[in-house]
Amino acid sequence: MLDLPNIFLSITAVCNIGLAIFINRRNRKSPTGFFFALFTIFLAFWAIALIGYSIVDDHFVALYLMKASYVSALIIGVGFYFFSIVYPNEKEPSKLHQFVITALLLAFIIPLFFFSTFFTKFIVEHPWGKETILGLPEYCLFVGLFSFLFVGGLIRTWVKVLRSVGIIRIRLLFVALSVTFAGLLGMYFNLYLPSPFLQDFRYIWSGPLFTFFIATTIVYSIFRFKLFDVRVITAELFTFALWMFILVQTLLAPDPKQQITNALLLIATIIIGIFLIRSVNKEVDSREKLEVLAKKLQTANSRLRELDRQKSEFLSIATHQLRGPLAGIRGHLSLIIDGSYGKMPARAKEVIEKIFFSSGLLTQTINDFLDVSRIEQGSMQYDMKTFECDSLVKEVVEELQPLAKERNLKLSFADECDGQCTVHADYAKLRHIFFNLVDNATKYTEKGWIKATVKKDPKKKILRVEISDSGIGIGKDEIAGLFEKFVRARGASGINIHGTGLGLYVAREMVEVHKGKIWAESEGKGKGSTFVVELPTSSTEARKTS
Ligand code: ADP
Repeated sequence: MLDLPNIFLSITAVCNIGLAIFINRRNRKSPTGFFFALFTIFLAFWAIALIGYSIVDDHFVALYLMKASYVSALIIGVGFYFFSIVYPNEKEPSKLHQFVITALLLAFIIPLFFFSTFFTKFIVEHPWGKETILGLPEYCLFVGLFSFLFVGGLIRTWVKVLRSVGIIRIRLLFVALSVTFAGLLGMYFNLYLPSPFLQDFRYIWSGPLFTFFIATTIVYSIFRFKLFDVRVITAELFTFALWMFILVQTLLAPDPKQQITNALLLIATIIIGIFLIRSVNKEVDSREKLEVLAKKLQTANSRLRELDRQKSEFLSIATHQLRGPLAGIRGHLSLIIDGSYGKMPARAKEVIEKIFFSSGLLTQTINDFLDVSRIEQGSMQYDMKTFECDSLVKEVVEELQPLAKERNLKLSFADECDGQCTVHADYAKLRHIFFNLVDNATKYTEKGWIKATVKKDPKKKILRVEISDSGIGIGKDEIAGLFEKFVRARGASGINIHGTGLGLYVAREMVEVHKGKIWAESEGKGKGSTFVVELPTSSTEARKTS
């Protein structure tokens, strides 16, 4: 019954079915995947038909199984014929082409199945097995059709091997070599020997066996050269190998009890295997989706970056255009206020002073925008010099003293660095930072004091400037975000309506260019705040940036 050749044929069939399934599953939309799966699945059917032929007793059934084996061989030819056309360019053959080949196939298959004596006449029993007597004209037709399809496909594949280069050539070579090897042997044992001239049916089992070689070569090239896009191959192959192993064990089991145990094991393994393959497939699918999303995100990201760049450019142009006329307006306004154009009524002077104040705020906002666009375009220029930072902070405090007085705030300065606070930095930029911090302190403090302290940590070679106030304070959850663009704390606009939320962002960018740090500390709302700037003292660190 199930002798050694049939066991080998079963193994080959299972291997080819497994191969067909996973190639098709992973390459569902690819014509190459489809035709190669067609090729491999009919290699399996060929083997199964021949197993059936050898084991059934009924000659009529055996005859039809032999017919099925020849039909499988033709479809193998069709699969390979189209594979050789579509691989590797994935160009699907025209509908007309597919129709003509299908019509040719049906022209042979229909009479083959409708007339039991068409091609396969009858069966003769021999001590070594069954022999099918074939009709000569039909045999010639079959050989012609099969050669056109299969041998034609082989020739096309070899031509492609010669014409291609690189990895494509290696992939094609693998397919061409394995299919030529298996195909020629298969044709010898299953076409030439059983022909009406030789009538030798003893080795018909060996043809499908060689297809095992195709399966292993293709699997190898999948691993080695990514012949098909298969990533779940390991899980699937492993599962199929396990099924096959248990199937063979079941078939070879000496007694029915063991056979039943093995069959149950096989069922359990099939169920678990299906779950395993499904979950691996799902994971691969979601990874593939993720890859697509990541690509889309990348595109969106670069588009956003481009838009951001254009926005900065626009901002820079627009603010530059605004700055000039505004400076002119402010110049004239100050001359009017000074009385250079003659005396004017007190009421009008009051209004002009308000306009002058507002134009000052506008200038500041425009300057902030210009700074932001320079930072974003990477075009901020730094003019590095060595100077004493304590005198700079002192200068800023003195400059803002009138403003503090106007708001009834006590603004003080403490120098705790014993004249050792040399920094190598851009003077104007540091001035801008400290001015902004002290100015902010005056804006966000309704009553009380503001204190600017300069300290030095000689061990760490760091200079620390602290601007503390007894003002509105900052909520713990808001502190970290304040240094982002356009971010203002809750309630800030109630006390300072002119704020833009850009000053701290600009300050942080500038401090970081100086290899320093800036942060805010506060015990909470209404508990005052401290802004700290740390800068490396005049050392190699700072000099490098110059
Ligand atoms: P602006 O003051 O123009 O709003 P900044 O970037 O200078 O922009 O400040 C951002 C925010 O940080 C302010 O809106 C305010 O909420 C908060 N802030 C800055 N300095 C202080 C301070 N000394 N006390 C309390 N909050 C402050």
